[in-house]
Amino acid sequence: MVVGEFTTEVDVLVIGAGPGGYVAAIRAAQLGKTVAVVEKAELGGVCLNVGCIPSKAMIHAAHTYEHTQHTESMGITMENVKVDFAKVQEWKSGIVKQLTGGVGSLFKGNKIQVIPGEALFVSENEVRVFHGYDVNRYRFQHCIIATGSRPIELPAFPFGKRVMSSTEALSLTELPKSLVVIGGGYIGIELGTVFAKFGTKVTILEGSDQILPGFEPDMPRLVERKLKKLDVTIHTKALAQGMEETENGVIVTAEVKGEQQKIEAEYVLVTVGRRPNTDELGIRDIGMNVTDRGLIVVDKQGRTSIPNVYAIGDIVAGPALAHKASYEGKVAAEAIAGHSAEVDYKAIPAVVFCDPEIASVGINEKEAKEKGIDYIVGRFPFAANGRALSVNAGEGYVKLIAEKETNLVLGAQIVGPEASNIIAEIGLAIEMGATLEDIELTIHAHPTLGEVTMEAAELALGRPIHVMK
Ligand SMILES: Cc1cc2nc3c(=O)[nH]c(=O)nc-3n(C[C@H](O)[C@H](O)[C@H](O)COP(=O)(O)OP(=O)(O)OC[C@H]3O[C@@H](n4cnc5c(N)ncnc54)[C@H](O)[C@@H]3O)c2cc1C
Repeated sequence: MVVGEFTTEVDVLVIGAGPGGYVAAIRAAQLGKTVAVVEKAELGGVCLNVGCIPSKAMIHAAHTYEHTQHTESMGITMENVKVDFAKVQEWKSGIVKQLTGGVGSLFKGNKIQVIPGEALFVSENEVRVFHGYDVNRYRFQHCIIATGSRPIELPAFPFGKRVMSSTEALSLTELPKSLVVIGGGYIGIELGTVFAKFGTKVTILEGSDQILPGFEPDMPRLVERKLKKLDVTIHTKALAQGMEETENGVIVTAEVKGEQQKIEAEYVLVTVGRRPNTDELGIRDIGMNVTDRGLIVVDKQGRTSIPNVYAIGDIVAGPALAHKASYEGKVAAEAIAGHSAEVDYKAIPAVVFCDPEIASVGINEKEAKEKGIDYIVGRFPFAANGRALSVNAGEGYVKLIAEKETNLVLGAQIVGPEASNIIAEIGLAIEMGATLEDIELTIHAHPTLGEVTMEAAELALGRPIHVMK
């Protein structure tokens, strides 16, 4: 031990204050534990500081700006609408500050100690925390690791002046004139849409044969149509190979459907995935079981191969999403407190805040086929919904999938206005074991976008009101 190192004892030590860690800490405190949280950067993690929240603020600002340019059909003409991008950033940063401050207040209210610094395991029940020149030790009965993930860097596109990860892209203070986005997953599409709406010339390079791989092909098709209207160039089956910096930007070389292309742009944004922050924690040294991809192996309560240490969020298997991290955080805290909680992943919603929004929960048709499930489907269009037309957003559909014999709701895919909110009803339906009749017989307020879910259930049951069978 270094002279001057102090050891503090806590019931539960949480490492990382993202949506996994801070939620786990609050639940553990609610359950009567003394809790301390180690955080090397800002409270709120990626989600609040450089992920979900700032990106959604930017998306909303960009949507608002774009909408002002398309109101003539409603009889509204706007002139001289301008973007002050630095102000947009200021507004976004204000929201981030408010929310991260909120986490601080919740910690205070729940008597959770915040330990600034970087944690490193020294044994199965002790970490050292490095903060500047200070090093302190914390001994715990239980620990929850929630250290999240960071952007993957491509060797041919090292992050720097002209090559950005989502973090830098979200804090640009000037709008780029042109941008190449490498990776057409949800982060690339969301940020690409933001910049395109603000007037940047965007080119997207996606390796697979559709953007937003993982979603049923019908869904990204509508998004692609909108991106093309925004003058975005989309290259699928495209492999970014290298780049050359010029005085004012970069020239990216890519192989697109087998042919070489050169694309000039002011910046490159690399969004090809994220890697778990498990390499600098010392967990391998204490014998923790970690996969080749750096994911910590856990059981259904989040317990690692070291029984008093738990892991949650982006560092364990499953989709890297904030709501999954928080859910796992609550389960782990409850397990530590002796409750019989365990994870059940059958209804994790996935949402992309593109235009139109897309969302899914449960299984889709492909997965139903793979599982040999005999299923029925109801796909109802927003074009037949009064509310959708009255908010000028009649594109897309709600698709429900249910077991044929029992009508048990198994999943849903939504493309269209407020897909991000509408999906919640179907998540609950799956969780509650609801059938199509339950959704059909639930009185949905009129006129609302949510009615489309009810109509999709009726359609699946063969008795739709507002479309012909
Ligand atoms: C641009 C972008 C947009 C996104 N949008 C969405 C969205 O709309 N919806 C959604 O669900 N998800 C979204 N995500 C993903 C979401 O942000 C992550 O899934 C979520 O933040 C993971 O939570 P976590 O608690 O596992 O880790 P994180 O939020 O990554 O937090 C981990 C924390 O641990 C700290 N830490 C790491 N190592 C140490 C250490 N050794 N000692 C102390 N502290 C440490 C880090 O500083 C960090 O604060 C987005 C991500 C990005 C990048």
